Amino acid sequence: MKYDVLIIGGGPAGNYLANLLARDFSVAIVEKKGSFGGKACTGIIGTKNYERLGFPEEAILNQLRGAVFYSRIQSFEIERKKPQAYLVDRKVLEKALAERAVSRGVEYYMATAFQGFKGGKAILQHLGERIEVEADFYVGADGVSSTVAKEMGAKTNAEFLSGYEVEVVGDFKKDFVEVWINKEINGDFFMWVAPVNKGLARVGTLGSIEALNRFLRLRRLKPTSVVEFKAGSVGLGWRKPWVRGNVALLGDAALQIKPTTAGGIVFGGICAHALREALLSGRFSDYEKVCGEIRRQISFGMRFRRIFLGMSQGDVEKVFEVLGSREAREIIEEQADFDDHIKTAKALLKRPKLLAKLIRISPSIVRYLV
Ligand SMILES: Cc1cc2nc3c(=O)[nH]c(=O)nc-3n(C[C@H](O)[C@H](O)[C@H](O)COP(=O)(O)OP(=O)(O)OC[C@H]3O[C@@H](n4cnc5c(N)ncnc54)[C@H](O)[C@@H]3O)c2cc1C
Repeated sequence: MKYDVLIIGGGPAGNYLANLLARDFSVAIVEKKGSFGGKACTGIIGTKNYERLGFPEEAILNQLRGAVFYSRIQSFEIERKKPQAYLVDRKVLEKALAERAVSRGVEYYMATAFQGFKGGKAILQHLGERIEVEADFYVGADGVSSTVAKEMGAKTNAEFLSGYEVEVVGDFKKDFVEVWINKEINGDFFMWVAPVNKGLARVGTLGSIEALNRFLRLRRLKPTSVVEFKAGSVGLGWRKPWVRGNVALLGDAALQIKPTTAGGIVFGGICAHALREALLSGRFSDYEKVCGEIRRQISFGMRFRRIFLGMSQGDVEKVFEVLGSREAREIIEEQADFDDHIKTAKALLKRPKLLAKLIRISPSIVRYLV
């Protein structure tokens, strides 16, 4: 068997890339699971990029147009007229992308695990049988613990965090997500409540299961009202290189994930376009360069993450006072971009009054962000 491109991993990134390449290349995907979905993932994706990338409409479960931010002692609300993010069903998203790819000629090897490269070929394990597949190019879209990344010798100094998420029955505001920043509950990350509908929400955090339990108690959600539990992991930072020889990494395998929110589906989709461009131009090694915008966003997100980790809850309260002010909320409501956090920070820091207040809290916050 010989293909132009063999994609390892049939998550959102691999399936999406398969669709993009199908017209110009012979493409196959190997996916180690026997079915799609099942991963711990809240499934929040910014509407603008969802539509721009052409993700399937049938995966949308809910539309979110606002957020309520809670610290330990304060809260403020951001409300937009139109939905800013969708909450999606991951299984439907992945399967719909895979069906689209198959109809465009992509070949799928389900329940097939990539084990390594030997003699320029991919060694695969399919239901107890060892098979070898050859391709001109290989793409590792095999998630955060990527085997392809190990095989190509990619290195990382990222921060790896466990993620825990439950679906819980309760009473929720259907089109508003809750973001809780309380370092006494969780010093590693924020907690979120993302409604699937009025009576069901996905509640999660990164860090430890104890932190999630503490949060469920604080939020007065009964552990006995939990109807689903999932755990996973994310890597915040860099894994490099993204391309070496005829092998590239995409999506979580390359840690193309926002360090601010741990959202990775859009970044994987945007980098899939960069990979296609690099393949079509015949300059595969340009992939990282073409993906420059995402590299800038990750870099910014890492600076933001360092600030967050260095903050006490007292600092968080001071930042809440600034961001909860009328002036800041107006800017966020008018200009915040769900996936472009550089744009949002720039819009806020352009206002002299807000800038002065933030400098007063900590000059290093502003220095880091600028
Ligand atoms: C708790 C939590 C909440 C999250 N919430 C969001 C969110 O709301 N929005 C968002 O955008 N992101 C979110 N993320 C991140 C998001 O889940 C990832 O960024 C996204 O899944 C990355 O997609 P991917 O296709 O790169 O990798 P994955 O989704 O991990 O897919 C990789 C695929 O490769 C397969 N695979 C692995 N190894 C092999 C192998 N050796 N051979 C063959 N196949 C293999 C796996 O089975 C899997 O199907 C969240 C993550 C966590 C942990």
